[in-house]
Amino acid sequence: MSTGNVTAGISNVNVFNSFFPRVSNRRADCPYCSGHSRLTVALDPVKGVWFCHRCQKGGSVSELARAIGVAYKPRPSGKAQQKKTEFREFLLKKMAELGNRERKLARSAEWAKAALRFYPDHEGAWEALARWEHARPWFEHFWLLASCKSGRFELYCQWRGRGRDLWK
Ligand SMILES: [Zn+2]
Repeated sequence: MSTGNVTAGISNVNVFNSFFPRVSNRRADCPYCSGHSRLTVALDPVKGVWFCHRCQKGGSVSELARAIGVAYKPRPSGKAQQKKTEFREFLLKKMAELGNRERKLARSAEWAKAALRFYPDHEGAWEALARWEHARPWFEHFWLLASCKSGRFELYCQWRGRGRDLWK
C-alpha cells in the first residue's frame, strides 16, 4: 500500500464507501462472496462494524481501513466530542447572560408600568415597556429550546452554523 493514500481521520462511512464495491444506505455488496452479491453486507457506521449475511464474513472498520491503506483513528468522534463540550460551555454562559438580560428588561417593564400610572406620557417608560414586550417571545423561545434535548440539539446546530454570534 502506498503511503500517499493516507488520509487523516477518515470517517467510518468513508471507509465503507472506499472498501465495498457498492454501498447503499446501510447495506453493501460483498467482495468476498463468490458469485453475485447484492447488498448482502450489513453496515453499522456508528459501531464501526460490518457483517455479510451470505458468507458470514465480518469485521471492523479499522481492519478495512488497513486493507485499503488509509489511516484510521479509532475515535473519529473526538473532535465532535470536543465541539459538544465547547457548546455546553457556550450554552451555560448564554443562559446566564440571557437570564440576566431578561431579568433587567422585566424589572424596567415593572418600573415602566408603575411610572405610567402616574405619568401616562412618560416616553422612557413606554420604551422600556415596548422593549420588554418585544423581547419576551424571543426569550421564551430560547428557554423552550434550552430546556429540552431536541431544542438543545437545534441550538447546537445553529451554533455550529453561526458560532458565537448566536442569540445576541
Ligand atoms: Zn459475503
